[in-house]
Amino acid sequence: MIHLQGRHALIFGVASEESIAWAIAKKLHQAGARISLGYQQRFKSRILQLVKSNEVPISYYERCDVTNPDEMAHFFSRVEAPIDILVHSIAYATPETFAKPLTEVTQEEFATSLVASSYSLIPLVRAALPNMRPGASVMTMSYLGGQRVVANYKLMGIAKAALEATVRELAATIGPQGIRVNAISAGPIRTLAASQIGDFGSMLRVYEQVAPLRCSVNQDDVGNMACFLGSELARNVTGQVLFVDAGYSILAMAELK
Ligand code: NAD
Repeated sequence: MIHLQGRHALIFGVASEESIAWAIAKKLHQAGARISLGYQQRFKSRILQLVKSNEVPISYYERCDVTNPDEMAHFFSRVEAPIDILVHSIAYATPETFAKPLTEVTQEEFATSLVASSYSLIPLVRAALPNMRPGASVMTMSYLGGQRVVANYKLMGIAKAALEATVRELAATIGPQGIRVNAISAGPIRTLAASQIGDFGSMLRVYEQVAPLRCSVNQDDVGNMACFLGSELARNVTGQVLFVDAGYSILAMAELK
């Protein structure tokens, strides 16, 4: 059992009950952490429902679009210190970019996706840093498409590659302050964000057939890894991409039957 009593977790990326970030909130809460949420205004009604359900008591919740410096400043001016765990579970690309070849992606679409999905980790860390103590843990969500070509992932693969490089650079930058930065690379999970990826159902079926553990993963599996990374048990783990994918990422050629 992991104990996170007395720790305060700041979580960005809850949009619905299915969000990976919500599973992380539940797991961190079960381990004893206090939870605060930053959310995008377009998901406000869902957030209010989740807060009202009280499944996870939420200390502080406020809109915070991570590409909007005013919302970020407002959010961080009111959030309680200290911050022990910072969860970045955010990705965005315009729907059109999933529907066309990479050669047709515009500069604006590229920038929109990379700013929201990769760069945003930097201003979040910058804003949280003054209230983070040694031993604090930052984590973000990646996917195998950041390291290899995955059908239909397209521009988001480039965003995840940039995100993973950002994790390493940030880990080196703030490591001397005793703060760790890691990425969790999850296998495919049905969520709002995943619904943008073409033929997602086939992706899940392939996972179940060929992943070494012959199963797909779920939000709770990622939540468990988040608990580990947020805890003392991971005190010397930083700059890493940790796969929670039933082993799929080790395959070069799956067994064909
Ligand atoms: P989700 O749709 O529930 O979460 C995506 C979140 O990103 C939403 O809460 C949305 O509000 C937030 N977001 C987007 N742009 C934002 C902005 N400008 N400011 C603030 N928030 C913003 O989907 P999810 O699958 O839980 O995705 C969470 C993370 O996990 C993403 O980084 C995603 O790429 C990653 N991931 C998902 C899978 C999967 O199969 N679902 C697999 C690996 C990694």
